[in-house]
Amino acid sequence: MSDTTDEQFPHDEGLPSPEPEGPGLFGEAEPPVPAAPQPPVPDAATAPYRVLARKYRPTTFEDLIGQEAMVRTLRNAFALGRVAHAFMLTGVRGVGKTTTARIIARALNCTGPDGQGGPTADPCGVCPNCIAILNDRHPDVLEMDAASRTGVDDVREIIEATRFRPMQGG
Ligand SMILES: [Zn+2]
Repeated sequence: MSDTTDEQFPHDEGLPSPEPEGPGLFGEAEPPVPAAPQPPVPDAATAPYRVLARKYRPTTFEDLIGQEAMVRTLRNAFALGRVAHAFMLTGVRGVGKTTTARIIARALNCTGPDGQGGPTADPCGVCPNCIAILNDRHPDVLEMDAASRTGVDDVREIIEATRFRPMQGG
């Protein structure tokens, strides 16, 4: 914000003068400078770039299109409190394996808006665990590219990690 007083009142010869409608010379609030008409900034220029797969990735089971049978199975599991220890999701690329895994991760770790909730098929999206998983920074949720990490050492790494309890998740 620049002081445009002198430009607005060139006859003042540089002397500071209170704005007619402003709070005065020592007013605490700056007089509102008429904002120059700004061209509308497109969202793409301000928002950090996200690849399409992440931008449009479903974040709830409701948004998951075309996997009704699997969603129903998972919903029943959560409703009964009998969630399996492991899930194997198969299919060609794009059917929602990774998306499902991420929703399951949130569903298992969600603590609800009040922090008192438990595993649920409808993760809240606002609790610390949900936010951390959505932002790819949850310490206990590891996303591995199974297409490239196929070696024995990769599996050893997983086995090694299973010796430790979760840091933040439940
Ligand atoms: Zn949550």
